[in-house]
Amino acid sequence: MDILITDLFIEKLIIYGSVFGLCILVVSIYLLKQKKTTAKYKAKIAKAKEEGVFEPVSLHPVIDTTTCIKSGACIEACPEKDILGIVNGRATLVNASNCVGHGACFHACPVEAITLVIGTEKRGVDLPHVHQSYETNVPGIYIAGELGGMGLIKNSVEQGTSAIENMVKEGFVKEKAELDVVIIGAGPAGIAASLTAKKHKLNFVTLEQDSLGGTVFTFPRAKVVMTNPMELPLHGKVMLKDTNKKQLLDLWLTTLSKNEIKIKEYTKVESISNEGKEFKVLTAKGEVFYTSKVLIAIGRRGTPRKLNVTGEDLEKVAYRLLEPENISGKKVLVVGGGDSAIESALLLAEQNLVTLSYRSEQFSRIKPKNAEKMKAAMANKSIDVLLNTQLSLISENEVHIKHNASEEVVNLPNDLVYIFAGGELPTQFLEKAGIQISKRFGYTMKKHS
Ligand SMILES: Cc1cc2nc3c(=O)[nH]c(=O)nc-3n(C[C@H](O)[C@H](O)[C@H](O)COP(=O)(O)OP(=O)(O)OC[C@H]3O[C@@H](n4cnc5c(N)ncnc54)[C@H](O)[C@@H]3O)c2cc1C
Ligand code: SF4
Repeated sequence: MDILITDLFIEKLIIYGSVFGLCILVVSIYLLKQKKTTAKYKAKIAKAKEEGVFEPVSLHPVIDTTTCIKSGACIEACPEKDILGIVNGRATLVNASNCVGHGACFHACPVEAITLVIGTEKRGVDLPHVHQSYETNVPGIYIAGELGGMGLIKNSVEQGTSAIENMVKEGFVKEKAELDVVIIGAGPAGIAASLTAKKHKLNFVTLEQDSLGGTVFTFPRAKVVMTNPMELPLHGKVMLKDTNKKQLLDLWLTTLSKNEIKIKEYTKVESISNEGKEFKVLTAKGEVFYTSKVLIAIGRRGTPRKLNVTGEDLEKVAYRLLEPENISGKKVLVVGGGDSAIESALLLAEQNLVTLSYRSEQFSRIKPKNAEKMKAAMANKSIDVLLNTQLSLISENEVHIKHNASEEVVNLPNDLVYIFAGGELPTQFLEKAGIQISKRFGYTMKKHS
């Protein structure tokens, strides 16, 4: 009898012991995995801080760590690379500067622990005052799209459409103006606004400083563009979800051309001024448009700063680098000393002869990784770097570069010029038009109700 009880006890001990051991093993594996993941993301955060991409610059997710259940759904959903990570079992921001604010993480979180916020406690972001109707504090001037704070293609399309619908409801008072509305910018918001204006048979013009498509035009060809089903005026429901730049641009171009809408590309608007109850819109080319209302749909990227040198209007001059893989065997001049200039020069040097001209004696305030790569490129002469110089003339086949101290000018054979001299933010443009702007620090743009 006693032996039977002892046997039973030992059997139970073995079973409970095994279960306990198994539990310990599972918990240990889990903790080890968590430790490894934490270490991996802590290293990524340290690198992001070193490279200056840890701080969010615009719209970004803020995670409520008390609600987060570490599902990792936000990380899975984010189509950009390493923006979010897991530290000590909780989601956290890693390369926050690269967040494009399209909010896939916001929708993916199963416990609604994410809020989309613009600006941080330390770093404010300028936002114009816009009413629910998209009209600003200046009656007759409306704002739609990312400029108002909330990005995304679908939002911009909806806002561009609604802004024009609201103008139509308000009506157009015209004295000497020929136009009902001038639409500034041809990104998703400006395109949707143009289609809505056509639908209502308005007399309008759309002015775009660059190429039609806005920020979407600048996406890399291979980028997956995420969007939700949306209603495109004069087209109907667009069911694209994971799409690409070409598909979107083709859709916009076909719809615009079917409806005989011509966007005036390469026409930058310089100013909007009040003319009684109407507005005068002046372009950089000196064209003037008188209009009853204005829709500003210029996004948040601003306008690249020009150097105002002879020849800068030649077609071979560009202010951004699109698809460097398609540029080879050229003599290229890159102007500038910031990260964009250096990253572009490094990319172009893979297949071209690159000269980089920078007005200062040395590069400052660039990412350590770029500084290192540049030092190597200068040492192995893969890029010819001309410090303390200025571009003084551009012709079809040459560029003239002047040394700041000696004033000596060198003429270099040249096929392409890329200028990265910073940009003028839309803030000044808006303020000149009388639109009120506030700096927002950690301002909630989207939250779960
Ligand atoms: C890297 C990156 C990835 C993204 N990925 C996605 C994604 O996958 N899905 C998504 O939904 N969103 C994505 N977005 C966000 C999306 O591209 C923007 O929210 C959207 O393009 C905003 O549309 P918009 O019409 O308001 O402005 P924009 O697209 O920026 O267009 C504004 C236009 O106005 C023009 N303009 C500016 N100033 C003037 C002037 N003075 N005169 C005349 N024209 C002027 C500009 O040249 C530009 O063409 C991404 C953004 C970035 C940067
Ligand atoms: S907003 Fe978009 S880019 Fe930013 S973290 Fe969320 S999913 Fe990634």
